[in-house]
Amino acid sequence: MSTSISSTIGPTINPGHSPIPFLAAAGYRTTTRWVSALQQAMPNERIVAFADLSPEAKAVCTVAIVANPNPEDLQCLPQLQWVHSVWAGVERLIANLHGNLHPNLTASPDGRHLPIVRLIDPQLAKTMAEAVLAWTLYLHRDMPTYARQQAQKQWLPRDYIRPERKTVGLLGLGALGAAAAKVLSLAGFNVCAWSRTRKNHPGIACFSGEAELNLMLSKADILVCLLPLTPGTRGLLNAARLAALKPGAALINFARGPILEQSALLAALDSGHLSHAVLDVFDEEPLPSEDAYWQHPNVTVLPHCSAPTDFETASAIVAANILAYRKRGIIPASVDFRLGY
Ligand code: NAP
Repeated sequence: MSTSISSTIGPTINPGHSPIPFLAAAGYRTTTRWVSALQQAMPNERIVAFADLSPEAKAVCTVAIVANPNPEDLQCLPQLQWVHSVWAGVERLIANLHGNLHPNLTASPDGRHLPIVRLIDPQLAKTMAEAVLAWTLYLHRDMPTYARQQAQKQWLPRDYIRPERKTVGLLGLGALGAAAAKVLSLAGFNVCAWSRTRKNHPGIACFSGEAELNLMLSKADILVCLLPLTPGTRGLLNAARLAALKPGAALINFARGPILEQSALLAALDSGHLSHAVLDVFDEEPLPSEDAYWQHPNVTVLPHCSAPTDFETASAIVAANILAYRKRGIIPASVDFRLGY
C-alpha cells in the first residue's frame, strides 16, 4: 500500500509545523476516513481529529480543515489564520462565522471573520456533471412515465424527441455549472445558463442578473439548479419563478433545499404546470418520513448523493493549498462573506 511506501521513503513530519485539526459537526461519520486520507496526502503534516487535539496543540494551530464544524470549536483555536473546507457548499459555516468574532480577528480582511477556503475539485465537478446528465436523460427519455405505465401494465411507446429540440437551463455557471453545461452540450442539448455576473461560454446562451432570470426560465424544458445557498438565492425558486417555466417543464435541484419553495413546487406539480422534479437536497436532511415529497408521483427523491466528495482527490487539493501556505504564506482565494459564496 502507498502508506508503507511513503512512511519508508517519504519525508518525516516537520516538527516546526503546528498540527492541523480536522473539525466536523458532532456525529459526523467520516472523520476517521478524512483524517486518514488527509494524512496520507500530507505526510509532512500531523492531521488530528479535533477531539484528539491537546490543549497545547490547540494553542498553536494556524490552519484547520473542516466539514461543517461547530463554531465553538473554532473559537478554541486562538491562532487560527484560515480554514479549508472539504465541502463545496459552505453556507452553514458562513452563517456560523458571520459576526461570530474569532479571537484572531487580524486574520480577516474585513476584521469580521476568518477566511474560508471551500473545496474546488475538478473530480467533484465531473461527478456532478455526470449526475446532471444522467437525470436530464431520465427526464428527457420519459422514464417517470414509463415507470408509471409499467405499474399499470401499459405498452405505450412515446414519440422520440432529439436532444437538439430540448433546452436545459442551468441556474449557476460556476465550477459545477460549467462542467454540467459542457456534458449537456456534448450530449446534444441546447444549453442556457444563468449566473450573477455575465459569462461568455461558446455554445451556451448566457444570462445574468435578476432582470434576465425569467427570460432564461422561459426557455428551459429542464431546469437544473446548481446555485450556492446565499441570502440572494434562498427562496429564489418561488411560485412566480416556477410559473415562468414552460408548461410541462421539469426541474432538477442538486444545489440546496431552501433555494426552492416546497409549497410552490408541489402546487406547480399538482396543477400539471411542471411535469416532474428530481430532488437531491432538502430543507431538512435526511428527508423526514412524513414529508409530502416521498409519496408524490411526480417527485424523485435522492439522498443527497448527486456529487459526493472524493476523499483522495479532495485531500490532494487541500494538501497542495496547505503546502503553498506553509512554503509561501499563500492563503487561497476564500469565500466572499458579503455575497455568501
Ligand atoms: P461556484 O463555483 O461558487 O458557482 C456558483 C454559481 O452560482 C456562479 O455561477 C455564481 O455566479 C452563481 N450565483 C451565485 N449567486 C447568484 C445569484 N444571486 N444570482 C445568480 N447567480 C448566482 O459553486 P459550485 O462549486 O459550482 O457549487 C454550487 C453549489 O452546489 C454549492 O454551493 C453547493 O451548495 C452545491 N453542491 C451540491 C452537491 C450535492 O451533492 N448535491 C455537491 C457539491 C456542491 P458568478 O459566476 O457570477 O459568481
